[in-house]
Amino acid sequence: MAADDLTKIKEEIPYSSPVQPVELMLDDEIQFHCHKGIACFNACCKNIDIQITPYDILRLKQRFGLSSSEFVARYTTPFAMDFHNMPGLKMNTKPGTSECVFLAEEGCSVYQDRPAACRYYALGSMGVRKKDSAAVEDIFFMVKEKHCLGHEEPRTLTVREYREEQGCDDYDDHNRAWRDVILKKRSSGPTVGAPSERSLQLFDMCSYDIDSFREFIQTDGFEEVFDIDDEARGKLLDNEEELLQFAFRFLKQVLFGEMSIPVKDDAKDKRMARRRES
Ligand code: SF4
Ligand code: SF4
Repeated sequence: MAADDLTKIKEEIPYSSPVQPVELMLDDEIQFHCHKGIACFNACCKNIDIQITPYDILRLKQRFGLSSSEFVARYTTPFAMDFHNMPGLKMNTKPGTSECVFLAEEGCSVYQDRPAACRYYALGSMGVRKKDSAAVEDIFFMVKEKHCLGHEEPRTLTVREYREEQGCDDYDDHNRAWRDVILKKRSSGPTVGAPSERSLQLFDMCSYDIDSFREFIQTDGFEEVFDIDDEARGKLLDNEEELLQFAFRFLKQVLFGEMSIPVKDDAKDKRMARRRES
């Protein structure tokens, strides 16, 4: 097909995606302002499709004083993130509507602890692993939906400033290792095969159920294998942010063999002996 024909065909395709096809870097400027007085206030929270991250759960469950499993059961719905059924969670909507369960008359009722996706909007981001590089690079783009009037507001700022204003960095820092796991799984492709049922369960627990993971690292089975001193264990048990990062390290070790948690020398022998006894 001639290049001219291809251009003509592209021109005739109606462009309907709200994602703006412009790659943005941190110091690029955007025009956007969302504020309480805007005519579309809350419009974006009335038709949601929000994927929840592990740090979103941590912040919200702490806010409500719930266990992670209680929060997940009450406010989220499971979905499969890929064809291998990697477990994902989406934010619940109010019954019979597509409105966020946390939307109140005066706006977001969990604003200080709103999920990463809400902080980013109307900025989108994507982690990409460049060919022949282990590092994951973030690229940004704008999502321009008709209902959102924030794009018409006369305020410009850089992507960096917008992210700072919305507290995106904190969320990204806490979720980075988890996102690495997902990217790694995705980039390994279908040839590596489906993860075992046990791997999926561990992914589920480490991602979305920090309270069960806390119990798990206190079991005899865990202690038998992993070499963690009492002081380090105590710190993990006392601090959920640190515990979450440890859960991601554990996940990388189990799924991809990235050894960052020391293993006891006699762990294998003990496990074999236990299996023989049972
Ligand atoms: S959590 Fe808050 S900001 Fe996010 S969709 Fe719900 S109401 Fe809107
Ligand atoms: S400006 Fe956009 S992000 Fe802000 S309330 Fe309106 S629709 Fe939502």
